[in-house]
Amino acid sequence: MPHSLLLKNADFVVSCDDADTLHKNTNLLCEDGRVAYIGPKERAADEVLDARGMTVYPGLINTHHHLYQTFSRNLPRLQNLELFDWLRASYRIWKNLNSEVVLYSSLTGLGELLKTGCTTCADHHYVFPAGTGDLLAAQFEAAGRLGIRLHAARGSMDLSEKDGGLPPDSVVQSVDEILRDSEEAVKKYHDPAPLAMRRVTLAPCSPFSVSADLLRESAVLARRLGVRLHTHVAETKDEENYTLERFGVRPLAYMESLGWTGPDVWYAHGIHFNDEELCRLAETGTGVAHCPISNMKLASGVCRVPEMLRLGVPLGLAVDGSSSNDGSNLLEELRVGYLLHRLTASAGAPTGYNMLKLATRGSARLLGRNDIGSLAPGKAADFFALRLTRIEMNGAAFDPLSLLGTVGHKGPVDLTVVNGKPVVKDGRLLGACEEEVVEKSRPVLAWFLGL
Ligand code: ZN
Repeated sequence: MPHSLLLKNADFVVSCDDADTLHKNTNLLCEDGRVAYIGPKERAADEVLDARGMTVYPGLINTHHHLYQTFSRNLPRLQNLELFDWLRASYRIWKNLNSEVVLYSSLTGLGELLKTGCTTCADHHYVFPAGTGDLLAAQFEAAGRLGIRLHAARGSMDLSEKDGGLPPDSVVQSVDEILRDSEEAVKKYHDPAPLAMRRVTLAPCSPFSVSADLLRESAVLARRLGVRLHTHVAETKDEENYTLERFGVRPLAYMESLGWTGPDVWYAHGIHFNDEELCRLAETGTGVAHCPISNMKLASGVCRVPEMLRLGVPLGLAVDGSSSNDGSNLLEELRVGYLLHRLTASAGAPTGYNMLKLATRGSARLLGRNDIGSLAPGKAADFFALRLTRIEMNGAAFDPLSLLGTVGHKGPVDLTVVNGKPVVKDGRLLGACEEEVVEKSRPVLAWFLGL
């Protein structure tokens, strides 16, 4: 059923287009999932929303998450650990994952993302306990109910404790099983068409929880199927020591030797790269998902964002899994990232607007999409709107481009639209009853956490 939506009289539309156009006192028309018109003329539409007092931004794009971790947040036993110890302790909980946990944790995490202006989420799910079946089905069901675009990275692990890895035996698979399940996931869910709501990426977990064979074979399979590659790289010094001791090379050289650089590859974190490696990332077009809050929480280090921006390394923004965040709020990530780099790079830090562009255009590039990340005719109608007449914005609305980094916005946004369809209105989800999700999650959480 064709559908059109008109946002009437918006104070500003921040386009994030090539010319950094800021539209003032304008209308925004969406038709059949795309932006059809931005300008002064009032056009007819099936649904008209009054946007007076509102500023409209392109939908934010989250390039790395572990939605299931939304159900292992704020646990005292995990709060004071660094990555390797934190992972070992977390696997004792995560080994009990099943479809119900994945469904309700995804509704929770994706719901929070939509309420805070994020319209596309890339999730990296790599824990597949034996006998739990197709866990991606539960993720896509949650995304479909809420109306968010989902890129599911089909993760995997083949090194367990007995092989010197961190996870228990029950959550790892053999290389053959992983390749078979990954190909099946791509055939079942991946939609390469413009405006697609579902895509699949291949994503072995990290250099220290998978074998060289799995990395090499996953890269070959992804390229045969025409899908992208994603994993964690250069998150900690422990990882660097691991590849140096085991393979005699630093993490990037190791990944490159297995086919894991190129414009179809993006890494989560990318903190501990040296100067030469940053140049290599730029030359090969290999991207980095910057996760400032997780990096601060796990004391992993500070990603070299100012240098990456100068060199032209493809860079996007992400919340990372909720147990190292402990939330799913990309607006908060944008502001915290802005402040973190102010602290460490002063005048060399990205501006508030640079951070917004990382979370929109930059993130879209990592996901290999040119239909999202900016607002212009022909692009997907993915955006959110904020009423700047609220008291906490009073006196702060002079520079709408930088506002989300410099001032930030702490609560839910007023409106979120995906593919031309409202999915959040007045700060509430339209696709699910929030109270019901919380109520139904209660017994699932109690069972999962063994309470
Ligand atoms: Zn992660």
